[in-house]
Amino acid sequence: MNPILDLDFIDNRTPEQATAAASCDTQVSKDTNTGRSRKLYIESYGCAMNFSDSEIVSSIMFEQGFDTTADIAQADLVFLNTCSIREKAEQTVRNRLGQINHYKKKKPGMMVGILGCMAERLKKSLLEEEKIVDLVVGPDAYRDLPNLINEVDGGQKAVNVLLSREETYADINPIRLNSNGVSAFISIMRGCDNMCSFCVVPFTRGRERSRDAHSIVREAEALVAQGYKEVTLLGQNVDSYKWASEDGTENVNFAQLLEMVALLSPDLRVRFSTSHPKDITDEVLYTMKKYDNICKYIHLPAQSGNSRVLELMNRTYDRAWYINRVDAIRAILGEECGISSDMIAGFCTETEEEHQDTLSLMDYVQYDYSYMFFYSERPGTLAARKLEDDIPLEVKKRRLDEIINKQRETSLARNKRDIGKVHKVLVEGTSKKSEEQLSGRNDQNKVVIFDKKHYKKGDYVNVLVHDCSVGTLFGEAID
Ligand code: SAM
Ligand code: SF4
Repeated sequence: MNPILDLDFIDNRTPEQATAAASCDTQVSKDTNTGRSRKLYIESYGCAMNFSDSEIVSSIMFEQGFDTTADIAQADLVFLNTCSIREKAEQTVRNRLGQINHYKKKKPGMMVGILGCMAERLKKSLLEEEKIVDLVVGPDAYRDLPNLINEVDGGQKAVNVLLSREETYADINPIRLNSNGVSAFISIMRGCDNMCSFCVVPFTRGRERSRDAHSIVREAEALVAQGYKEVTLLGQNVDSYKWASEDGTENVNFAQLLEMVALLSPDLRVRFSTSHPKDITDEVLYTMKKYDNICKYIHLPAQSGNSRVLELMNRTYDRAWYINRVDAIRAILGEECGISSDMIAGFCTETEEEHQDTLSLMDYVQYDYSYMFFYSERPGTLAARKLEDDIPLEVKKRRLDEIINKQRETSLARNKRDIGKVHKVLVEGTSKKSEEQLSGRNDQNKVVIFDKKHYKKGDYVNVLVHDCSVGTLFGEAID
């Protein structure tokens, strides 16, 4: 079974919803058609952070005379913004390069670039392994793209994979590539200082750094002015956001940043992802409670329900600590607050009893949904260096199946609780299945489908829910 496809049970969400909580997905650039002389096609893999980075890259390339296109055959420049989180993610990109070769044969001048985590992990060797690739650019080197493109235009291959301790692209105004015009991502920080033993991110995205709080607020303000109704503040560990002005007179933590963005407009919904169980504070929870427009939904990846495994994973919390944080969420924000998780099945040395602890944690928390994977060893990580990947693949897959089945049960049970209640839904567009129906999300990030009537994209609509499936609520708009 494929862990990425295993997300299918929540797949009736829009791409924006599917990515809002750091899931796995693919996004393709859209046509901008502003009359620029060359065209960039950019395909992004992995997490919301990558999608957000592609919007920064498009903005940099726009300044260099590139419009974006949704049609790869039209492209002068093809970028794959890649993910390294699991082996499968890298394999997908390599297969895609094979397909892109066909386009390049028809259009020999087409340049092909690998951006993002795979570029950072494999560096120059990508040029040797994948002959079709002309440039390799890591996540902190996008400002150098104009120079690198010049090198390629001059017949060279080009590489820049330098990581930075400062780069946050704070001053770059992203071109919204896949936005529905209603919700947008804002990167508030980059990199990660945690060293979870399974994870390649600290190696591919470098040290954690927080972006200037005022530039974040300005970006949100500009989105409000353009009619956006929802922003998702993005970081690998938003709770450790910490920005200080150069003269040291201002210090902003995540709770304060949330408040600054929430205060922009009561009509702007504010979401965020990802929260780390070791860092999420009661101050953040109370700030969420204080503002109606901060969505009551927290993506709080547990990874495992067993303390020994969590220690091996170097997550720096144990089961009791995690439960304490969930109890705090319930005490401060109530039963209605949505909680989701990431879970890894079959981490090194995990026993059957320890796997059962993950299932029992899921029973305790009653997650609204989870992103679920089996462990995939990544070269260079602490686990790859120190631990044996000793759980047979079929055992990993069986445990993953059990986790998925448990999640389906709890998702359905949580959705059933929503029946008979009125939900405030932000409409994102027409439903995939019928032009006569609209699709949006409630506060808890759940998809709600209802008959269109006179409502339209961007409206807030009160919907009385009368039915549900594992991944969707169905209801009727009440005027
Ligand atoms: N920063 C987030 C956090 O700490 O929860 C997670 C970011 S990571 C991009 C997304 C998810 O991928 C992780 O939460 C984890 O469940 C999963 N993941 C990361 N490395 C993995 C690996 N080697 N094998 C399987 N899943 C992995
Ligand atoms: Fe990876 Fe852990 Fe950082 Fe998340 S917190 S990005 S899992 S190292």
